Amino acid sequence: MTRDTAEARRYHRLLRRIGFADLTLGLLVMSVLLATNWTSDFRNFAFKLGGDHYSVALFIYTTIVLLLTKFLSLGLDYYGFLIEHRFHLSNQRLRGWAWDQIKGFALVFVFGQVLAQVVYFLIRFQPQWWWVIGWVLFLVFSMLLTHIAPVLLFPLFFRFRALTDEDLTARLTRLSEKAGAKVRGVYEWMLSEKTKKANAALMGLGRTRRIVISDTLLSSCNHDEVEAVLAHELGHHVHNHMLKGVAVESIITFFGFWCLKIAIRWAALDWKRYDQIDFANLPLMVLVSTAISVALFPLMNAYSRFNERQADLYSWKSLGSVQPFCSAMDKLADQNLSEREPSPWVEVLFHSHPAAGPRVRAAQNWADSHK
Ligand SMILES: [Zn+2]
Repeated sequence: MTRDTAEARRYHRLLRRIGFADLTLGLLVMSVLLATNWTSDFRNFAFKLGGDHYSVALFIYTTIVLLLTKFLSLGLDYYGFLIEHRFHLSNQRLRGWAWDQIKGFALVFVFGQVLAQVVYFLIRFQPQWWWVIGWVLFLVFSMLLTHIAPVLLFPLFFRFRALTDEDLTARLTRLSEKAGAKVRGVYEWMLSEKTKKANAALMGLGRTRRIVISDTLLSSCNHDEVEAVLAHELGHHVHNHMLKGVAVESIITFFGFWCLKIAIRWAALDWKRYDQIDFANLPLMVLVSTAISVALFPLMNAYSRFNERQADLYSWKSLGSVQPFCSAMDKLADQNLSEREPSPWVEVLFHSHPAAGPRVRAAQNWADSHK
């Protein structure tokens, strides 16, 4: 396999810097709110404006925090948009990008407000067990979200249409029957309106379960290669990776909610700054949740790479050949300007998928040992 171009390396170095800057900025904003105690000023202002009504004040306070963080990170978001253009990967105009930003913020706003109301309602009326009840509700909500995402959330940003190619549909049906698996359908994901990059994914739960494959992938790969990608996605389905993901998430969020309980008790009893029911402690909750996600990021990525390797193996087995898989990986790495051979620590820290280089080598090793 060809070596990485300097361009691919530069592109990914920039992406990592943007990610790092975005994370630092988020942590910094929350730390400043707490250190200066501006969070209390915001809370007082919210109560004044909300006529001393707790839920209204919480809504106003959350709105201030959400608007502030979005406003401060807008520059980095725009820089990300420019980078995609600089590396000739984007098909999106500024107007479309701005519209996506508005829709994205609207979603964050709605979910953020609901989350804040539910969490502080529980803290006020179930001060002992709020974190356990919160955790259960969070899981139910997260399952629901996975279920509705392909039909309600993703269509806010992308167009999808049923895959019409008869040969490909027939191949997928054959693969599914061999696996004894039932996938509701395959959809063409109109990604070319936004990017030149290619992608495919398994989405949804139960009745909304489907494979989506981008039009950009369909136009760059031949049918054998597309079949290898479809078999990989089917591998995720057969190995039940979505549900296992939810199970792993449930363990982590249980730990997360427990940490939040400890943190706000500490702020009330030891730091003596914010009562537990005082939503001015919200930046502390955000800090703690972010710190946990960052700390667990390498572990979650390792878990994801394990699943990806399992899905790859499924693809090779069901096709009985690794050649279409290898050439698809090669094409997609080119198309997405991926790093084929990132340094080991980059892969361990940041990659949710094994890089194309190791993936192709693993396929060839498997083929050699199954001759
Ligand atoms: Zn995958």
